[in-house]
Amino acid sequence: MFEWRELLGQDAARDDDAAVAPYARTLFRAAPRPAGVLRARDRDQVVQIVRAANRHGVALYPVSRGCNWGFGDACPAGEDQVVLDLSGMDSVHSIDADLAYAVVEPGVSQEALAGRLRADGVPLWMPCTASTPDASVLANAIERGWGHTPYGDHFSHVAGMEVVLGDGSVIDTGLGRFEGSKTTFLAKGGAGPLLEGLFSQSNLGIVTRLGVWLMPEPDCFLGFVLTLGERGHLGELIERLRPLRLSGLLPNPVHVYNDVRAASFLQAIPRDELEEDGALSDGARRALRNRHGLGPWVATGGLYGSRVEVLAGVRALRRAVSGLGTVRMLPPGILAAVERAARVPARLGVAPARRLLEQVARARAPLDYLRGIPNDYALAGCRWRVRALTDPDSLNPLDNHCGLYWVVPTCPARGSDTERLVELVEAVCRRHGLDPLISITLLSGRMLIVPVHIAFDRLDEDESTRAESCHHDLLDECLAAGYPPWRVGNVGFDRLGDSPYSQALARIKRALDPGGVLAPGRSPAPPDRP
Ligand SMILES: Cc1cc2nc3c(=O)[nH]c(=O)nc-3n(C[C@H](O)[C@H](O)[C@H](O)COP(=O)(O)OP(=O)(O)OC[C@H]3O[C@@H](n4cnc5c(N)ncnc54)[C@H](O)[C@@H]3O)c2cc1C
Repeated sequence: MFEWRELLGQDAARDDDAAVAPYARTLFRAAPRPAGVLRARDRDQVVQIVRAANRHGVALYPVSRGCNWGFGDACPAGEDQVVLDLSGMDSVHSIDADLAYAVVEPGVSQEALAGRLRADGVPLWMPCTASTPDASVLANAIERGWGHTPYGDHFSHVAGMEVVLGDGSVIDTGLGRFEGSKTTFLAKGGAGPLLEGLFSQSNLGIVTRLGVWLMPEPDCFLGFVLTLGERGHLGELIERLRPLRLSGLLPNPVHVYNDVRAASFLQAIPRDELEEDGALSDGARRALRNRHGLGPWVATGGLYGSRVEVLAGVRALRRAVSGLGTVRMLPPGILAAVERAARVPARLGVAPARRLLEQVARARAPLDYLRGIPNDYALAGCRWRVRALTDPDSLNPLDNHCGLYWVVPTCPARGSDTERLVELVEAVCRRHGLDPLISITLLSGRMLIVPVHIAFDRLDEDESTRAESCHHDLLDECLAAGYPPWRVGNVGFDRLGDSPYSQALARIKRALDPGGVLAPGRSPAPPDRP
């Protein structure tokens, strides 16, 4: 710490309880406590920090904004690791409105980038997740996070990484490695192998700058909510959506939620209706659906393009859903007009106007994700099993002892596979007395991911233990059934098995981080400290 204090100043290198405590908070049942916290302000400081870590054999765990909720939060991946907080590196270096990209540092949040685009009047949309507006754009992309706009596979829409390796050297992964390159942020790679992938979901380097592609605002945008009439129609829905995703008529990763997941955004679990095994009965789920006007499955998505393209999309969507359910179009302009009309009477206390405003707000939040406007609508879902909120005004799940593990299996975009995987998820969750909170994201026309939200009350020891083993079993059983994970949290890496892939990764680790100082344990490679 002494050397780091000399380098960064007293306040930016600390190991006292007050400084460490915020980074020790977790949504998991338990997580390692950091040995200290460092705050870097620029790339050169990161280099110096890494070199000192090598000299003293201390492990670092980098976080950009530390909102990796349900995947490890801001907690390190193992004991005796010092958190390196990059949130102070929060510059948007540039925005190129013609070529549609921004160059960002790790600390740039979703809110900051969206706000900057808004303030500058740039008609470009940022890749938006349903996580907190405070989360990092860069970290989400290198985590291969997913979102709601047509650029929803975030890692596919970035280029031009600057990375500090484990030995303190700095590389440009792509075209930026060529002196004077004018194309650094415009495409991955250039002549030679692509290196970017090595620094996604990995512990091989610290990414200090990234080009993030932004979506040009389309002439016309229409959000939609699709409600299935019967639970058993899910497979058929996937069959019918696949061609629309493959052809590009549906350009964004449509998100499909089961009834309990959709209800979790709106209320807490009705605990008095739990069955003996701790999960909701079919009757209770039906009652939830009736209360909130949900179907057994509800999907949200958007149509983008010219007026003609959007109208073609509406027709195709209506055809696809015919006989399975209903589709409701949500033009943002109409919602805004209703909002304007209801605002004054609501302020004067007219109850129907208030209710209307609430309904519009509910419809608007998921619609906003689809056009690059982050918001905190989905965060309420973390409270699903929490009995008593300690800080009801805060939507930060860490403030309300919410518990959460994500498991994110991949699945072919085929009805039969989707149904099989959903059955497996439901069975494992039920076995642990927990509700299967399931969403399905059609990342492409070929593959979907099934983020399972294992929510629990951290104050309930028994429930916490069940949630943790539910996470482990679900990950293992999905893998065994042929549905490997898209992304894992810090408790998932050591369950991914040994293979020539993981052995090769271990060799790469030894080459790029010879001192093993970067986030030991956050890798599918076998023990990565040489
Ligand atoms: C209700 C809810 C909804 C969510 N919705 C989504 C969603 O729609 N899509 C989605 O993808 N996720 C979602 N998440 C998960 C998570 O919150 C996001 O992925 C979030 O972006 C991660 O936090 P962060 O960006 O602050 O990253 P951080 O916590 O800073 O980092 C994430 C990981 O990357 C590593 N890392 C960070 N910065 C660097 C760096 N510069 N160099 C090298 N490694 C680094 C860290 O060690 C950490 O393991 C959701 C979570 C919740 C609770």
